[in-house]
Amino acid sequence: MSSVLSASDSEQEIVSRNPATGEAIGVVRLHSSSEVTSAVEAARDAFATWKESTFSERARIVMSAREVIISEMDDIAALITNEVGKPMAEAISTEIVPALDLMQYFARSAKDMLKPKKIDIGLTALMGRTSRIIYRPLGVVGIIPAWNYPFTIPIGEAAMALMAGNTVVIKPSELTPLVGMRIAEIFRKAGLPENVLQVITGDGSTGAAMVEAKPDKIMFTGSVATGKKVAQAAAKNLVPYVLELGGKDPMVVFADANLENAADAAVWGAFCNSGQTCASVERLYVEESIADEFTAMIVERTKRLRQGLGADESTDIGSMISENQLAIVESHVNSFRQEGAEILTGGRRNPAFTGSFFEPTVITGAVNSMRGMREETFGPTLPICRFNTEDEAVALANDTEFGLCASVWSSDLHKARRVAERIEAGTVTINEVMYTHGISQTPWGGVKNSGVGRTHGDEGLKELTSAQHIHINHFGFIPDVWWLPYSPKALKAFKALAKYFASGSLIKASLVAPTFLKRLFELRKKRK
Ligand code: NAD
Repeated sequence: MSSVLSASDSEQEIVSRNPATGEAIGVVRLHSSSEVTSAVEAARDAFATWKESTFSERARIVMSAREVIISEMDDIAALITNEVGKPMAEAISTEIVPALDLMQYFARSAKDMLKPKKIDIGLTALMGRTSRIIYRPLGVVGIIPAWNYPFTIPIGEAAMALMAGNTVVIKPSELTPLVGMRIAEIFRKAGLPENVLQVITGDGSTGAAMVEAKPDKIMFTGSVATGKKVAQAAAKNLVPYVLELGGKDPMVVFADANLENAADAAVWGAFCNSGQTCASVERLYVEESIADEFTAMIVERTKRLRQGLGADESTDIGSMISENQLAIVESHVNSFRQEGAEILTGGRRNPAFTGSFFEPTVITGAVNSMRGMREETFGPTLPICRFNTEDEAVALANDTEFGLCASVWSSDLHKARRVAERIEAGTVTINEVMYTHGISQTPWGGVKNSGVGRTHGDEGLKELTSAQHIHINHFGFIPDVWWLPYSPKALKAFKALAKYFASGSLIKASLVAPTFLKRLFELRKKRK
């Protein structure tokens, strides 16, 4: 295991290990549930002041945190590499770059995105009413991330939550606590007031304690199984949540696609971070007429990949996070073999290393009934399956419990769009794979078992607010026709409301005027 628990006196600790070497790289506290409750309470106290801060004060701190990241970039990237095993190149390209971009985007845009919004209330406005929505901060946002992107996901969600006026408690994965603690350090250096953002290290029990501590929102990223537990526990106290869960993303390649680009994308999409990305390409469907040629292109590219220590600048594929994760991949690959698929390259633990390295693996002859095509593998495997028609491609892509992302590859954009719109997924990219979590302006999230709710974009920012409706009656001196007491005239007025006013048509609504006036006079008279 890359991290182990040990007891020292009454306190428990987590030893964080480099999964590529097994070397211990740090020790952190495993916080108790009472400490988690105290952290959430401290965050609630801090909220009283932080919610009153202006958008420019919040933006100044988020932008300062960016500066800290930029000045410490090499060191942060090295820490991510040491704790996750991914290449330094990916620590920068897929963790630091998107975090920096998200932070500047929400620092600059949150004020405008959350400005009060006037609502068109239709014919009700004729009665002298107006409605506005204001976006209030929720309170304490509890962030429970996975280990695979231990920097960009929690720091991005934290930056959005802070910009919306919330305070934050992050419970990092037990496999990547040091990266989590670094996030707290970055915001401390940026001048964030005490307890506005806290990082509380621990394992699943600490995450469960966070949910029990009743924060005002849970932003959870992890497996479907844990996501369901979080949802059940949160439901007890009606704590709202966003669940960003697993995927089994399909890549559909038509014969008219740019095959060079599609092959490069498939290899990056399947093997980046050793395949441990929620939006990894986990199923490749290729049109029969080009299947042999395309498969050969992928195998040739895969064989060229250099596997090694993440710290080595020319490493393409690093280690996996843990022996547990590697064992799942091994078991899926063995299932593929037993169920009749063929391993074209890879297919085994890399014997050149002692750490958790699995060779990038290309599999052909895969069909959807195979275990490795149904369960999330979360490792460096690329199973390839063939299709003949557009309808078949859509049916194969949708034949899964997951619905996070998908991609469609074709030079016919009309066809690609048509297919994309038929695929059940939170995001479908055309002639592109996987990277849109890095576009902070666009919503991210899944359908089916891939999750609930959204992060990023307008939808994601608003998840971190409560939409409060402020309604004004500008004719406050006139009673409403629907108030008590009721009478035959009231009933007549209500029937007119049903028949004419509720039609939404101004012309029809004008027909309510006589019954309305009679009813108003009646109400005024009854007041005397
Ligand atoms: P996991 O479910 O094992 O753990 C996720 C987090 O939940 C960890 O911090 C863990 O300590 C915590 N946790 C465990 N039990 C808990 C409980 N009962 N209550 C509250 N918290 C608890 O997942 P993982 O192995 O860390 O991550 C891998 C999974 O994450 C994959 O399925 C991957 O697809 C998914 N993921 C999804 C996205 C996305 O955006 N959809 C992004 C990254 C990862």
